[in-house]
Amino acid sequence: MRPQSTRDAYHLLERWQQVVIMRLRTGHCRLNAHLFRKLKLTPSPTCPCGLEDQTPEHVLMTCPQLKPIRDKVWPASVPLRTKLYGSRQDLEATTSFVSQTKLMV
Ligand SMILES: [Zn+2]
Repeated sequence: MRPQSTRDAYHLLERWQQVVIMRLRTGHCRLNAHLFRKLKLTPSPTCPCGLEDQTPEHVLMTCPQLKPIRDKVWPASVPLRTKLYGSRQDLEATTSFVSQTKLMV
């Protein structure tokens, strides 16, 4: 039996990348929706784009303000599940996207 962690591309990432992926997977991150709902640290759960709560899914999949970066990292559309639980390459694309957005997750 191989332990769970060796079946997950997550363990192949660098430490900072693991932190980003884990925060996005759990939603325990510094995006507005979590800070507001759980910790009351921001005045609003809404993304700066004003359309939706600033959740990992919104940032990774739909936020129009991040579309130029998203299109550069993922020229073809990629499902959220792949962005968070895909291969090492998929996860590295996600961490690259997050670092280019300059968002603190
Ligand atoms: Zn947005």
